Amino acid sequence: MIDARQVDRAAGPYRLGVIGDPVAHSLSPALHQPALDLLGIPAVYERWHTRPGEMAARVASLRDARVLGANVTVPHKLEALRLVDEVSPAARRAGAVNTIVNRDGVLFGDNTDIAGFTASIAAVLGAEIPKRAVVLGAGGAARAVVLGLEAMGVSEIVVANRDPERARQLAAALAPAPVQTMGIGDAALRDALRDASLLVNATSLGWRAGEMPLDTRALALLPAGAAVADLTYRDTDLLLAAGERGLRAIDGLAMLVHQGARAFELFTGRPAPLEVMFEAARGARAGG
Ligand code: NDP
Repeated sequence: MIDARQVDRAAGPYRLGVIGDPVAHSLSPALHQPALDLLGIPAVYERWHTRPGEMAARVASLRDARVLGANVTVPHKLEALRLVDEVSPAARRAGAVNTIVNRDGVLFGDNTDIAGFTASIAAVLGAEIPKRAVVLGAGGAARAVVLGLEAMGVSEIVVANRDPERARQLAAALAPAPVQTMGIGDAALRDALRDASLLVNATSLGWRAGEMPLDTRALALLPAGAAVADLTYRDTDLLLAAGERGLRAIDGLAMLVHQGARAFELFTGRPAPLEVMFEAARGARAGG
């Protein structure tokens, strides 16, 4: 983390980066660099491609006095949790670290996906708290979503996954979060959808046209007034179908920007320029 009163410009720029494999398509540099520049923070945000087996050395390199920290993406969020010195309670519970902050050589790991998700939902739902939410998927992103829903006060969380055993593991790991689990093909999912006010796609389906995590007929079971969120940051077929039904659609770009904004605040100790980050993310998405 940087101390704004003691910025040492003579020593060259501070460094930040995103750690992942691959990282070529990460939007993080596009999000963070304009925000650093706007605030006059002398720092460069880089892509740090890190292969399996290289994580320990990469994380150790973050202790350098000129490094402010790093964002961590697929597939390293779990290993990052084991390699940092201190971990926030949220990251420990999620079992994943997506943000590492260098605090004078002590590495602090946090998980900003959780607050990023809740901020993206609150931007659309306002003070409305869904009574029941259905989450599709049971991977790392679904864990952050479930913890976010729990923090929002959602009292019934249904997690449906292709592999129902993985959903059960998620529920056990996140207890006492109020989670009920099932397979994505189960008849019980149809009943769960009839009473849900929020549906979240946290599977990896949606990046390509034609990919749907759920049958369109099942989507039709959601009550009028429900909202549909997709962690994929494009107009997925799911979101398009939700829009056609008149449901509120929330795409994953807002979660991406909000998790980045929270990471930025941890790195710099300064409020993130949210609008600049949104604009940069939209531009990078359109260009990519
Ligand atoms: P994981 O690999 O941990 O989990 C993938 C999930 O998708 C599992 O539940 C898996 O089911 C399911 N899945 C994969 N293929 C299929 C399929 N063909 N049919 C049905 N289900 C399938 O990934 P993450 O949880 O890390 O990421 C999930 C998505 O969320 C990605 O698209 C990622 O880009 C996005 N994401 C977006 C963020 C944002 O800020 N907007 C932040 C983090 C993630 P199973 O267990 O049965 O294999």
